[in-house]
Amino acid sequence: MKILVVNAGSSSLKYQLIDMETEKVLAKGGCERIGLDGSLLKAKGNGSEKIYEKPMPNHKIAIELVLGALLDSEIGVIKSMDEIGAVGHRVVASGEYFKKTTLVTPEVLKTLEENTFELAPLHNPAAATGVRACMEVMPHTPMALVFDTSFHATMPEKAYLYGVDYDDYKKYGVRKYGAHGTSHKFVSAEAAKYLGKKPEDLKIVTCHLGNGSSISAVDGGKCIDTSMGFTPLAGVLMGTRSGDIDASAVEFLARKKGLSHAEAVNYLNKKCGVAGISGVSSDFRDLEAGVERGNERCALALDMFSYQTKKFVGAYAAVMGGLDCIVFTAGVGENTPAVRAGVCEGLEFLGVEFDAESNALKNNGSIREISTKNSKVKVLIIPTNEELVIARETAELL
Ligand code: ADP
Repeated sequence: MKILVVNAGSSSLKYQLIDMETEKVLAKGGCERIGLDGSLLKAKGNGSEKIYEKPMPNHKIAIELVLGALLDSEIGVIKSMDEIGAVGHRVVASGEYFKKTTLVTPEVLKTLEENTFELAPLHNPAAATGVRACMEVMPHTPMALVFDTSFHATMPEKAYLYGVDYDDYKKYGVRKYGAHGTSHKFVSAEAAKYLGKKPEDLKIVTCHLGNGSSISAVDGGKCIDTSMGFTPLAGVLMGTRSGDIDASAVEFLARKKGLSHAEAVNYLNKKCGVAGISGVSSDFRDLEAGVERGNERCALALDMFSYQTKKFVGAYAAVMGGLDCIVFTAGVGENTPAVRAGVCEGLEFLGVEFDAESNALKNNGSIREISTKNSKVKVLIIPTNEELVIARETAELL
């Protein structure tokens, strides 16, 4: 079966067509600037790339263009739309309405639209638009919603609750939901495979470090805690997000800067993190270049990022009562040796023997061990593959 994975943003739509027998990506690409001037689709297939500069006033037209590219005489990889067995849609937030991958029905779509938009105002409406667009263009193809939050549904109440009034939690659903679940799920399963162990026998801390970053405790194959919260603003500081901050400091900052609640949260999401600390960039490559030039604030930003990530590793080893493996993944986790070193150095007391030489090697896109042969705790770099998880989940559901 071939599965189309769709990741719709407010003005973008990324896709991959995956052959489930081989798990190979047959075609992939993305539409940019949907609803804006200068929209285009960059599509890859059959070993070549084609750019379609076509107006895309909405997501329906975008998905029609994507299907056109999949059927294209040069870069096309299918002969008929019927070859697409199902569509898996990435959805950021589920709230408590969906615990697992869910087949799209009119009721499911209604629940998604009526209850979850507030939880991810930028992402979930876009995902729903993507689902509706696909349903219009491919009315007979089964569709699945695959949530970033599902892998975290196994967290116990003591881990996901905030210390707020329990009745308010019940009434408003204010709690930790986490994010990047498909990535944490994928890399923790890959780690078990690589180590030749059953997931049930492993205590793993997975560090998904990218522009957005989250760290999870995966005990026996199940997520028991994660660093992101009600929204992706929580946890470690990130590219432009502050990470955890005292709520009173938010009110204080808003007052001092003359911001409304919404503006203050927007500020914490967009103007803070390593970009705010360094005053240079949210991109870790720019921070590394800054350090080389002797920029102290770039060094401070990197230092804070590693320090905060290390604290989660320690906390999660404590709550799991041990640690077998640390996994680094995503843009920064896979490509920034200084961060991995900053997180792992000094963890000898936990049984981590770090291999600085292996850590310094350039990313080659495959799994790499960056702990020594004798290290009790294995440290691995594992490239993430969220699209493959979405495709697998969709196939399993069918
Ligand atoms: P997200 O999916 O959260 O947008 P990514 O996982 O793609 O983020 O990570 C993006 C970040 O990874 C960039 O901001 C950059 O700081 C960092 N990075 C460092 N080196 C590389 C590299 N060689 N390729 C891509 N990203 C890199």
